[in-house]
Amino acid sequence: MGNKTLAIIKPDAVKRNLIGQIIKEITDAGFKIKAMKMVRLTKDSAGGFYEIHKERPFFNNLIEFMTSGPCVPIVLEKDNAVPAFRKLIGATDPAEADEGTIRKFYAHSKSENVIHGSDSNKNAAIEIAHFFSRMELLENYQEETLNRYRILSER
Ligand code: UDP
Ligand code: MG
Repeated sequence: MGNKTLAIIKPDAVKRNLIGQIIKEITDAGFKIKAMKMVRLTKDSAGGFYEIHKERPFFNNLIEFMTSGPCVPIVLEKDNAVPAFRKLIGATDPAEADEGTIRKFYAHSKSENVIHGSDSNKNAAIEIAHFFSRMELLENYQEETLNRYRILSER
């Protein structure tokens, strides 16, 4: 899983009609889209996704925000995807994000910050499984999967 991460184009960006621009930034940076959908999270789903933050003072606001409209979860692939994508999106607070990052350019605040990126390989695997079934992932990997079976059967 070291080459995959989960991105979410958050509800603020979807409302501002930025899906296309943000996806272009991501693919221009060399990430490949392996799975993608648009969903409106329920409070339970958003609460589960952000479980690690449930004791934090911003938790209720975060859930309110993440359920305020549809969002776009995306599975991305690149070498060292997790740190590479965190670098592309920039710091949580756009005021602290480096020039050239997605949050610096598009985000309006530390809470409504346009995009999510997994923070570790372990969390990437958990977060990908939160949004995408094994079947949805496999369908997009058909070629790779077939090649793997071919290699196995030739041994
Ligand atoms: N967040 C917030 N206030 C804070 C910190 C975080 O509203 O002081 C929100 C923000 O949307 C952030 C999300 O909670 O993206 C998850 O926080 P985390 O610290 O994991 O930041 P990230 O990994 O998204 O940079
Ligand atoms: Mg985080």
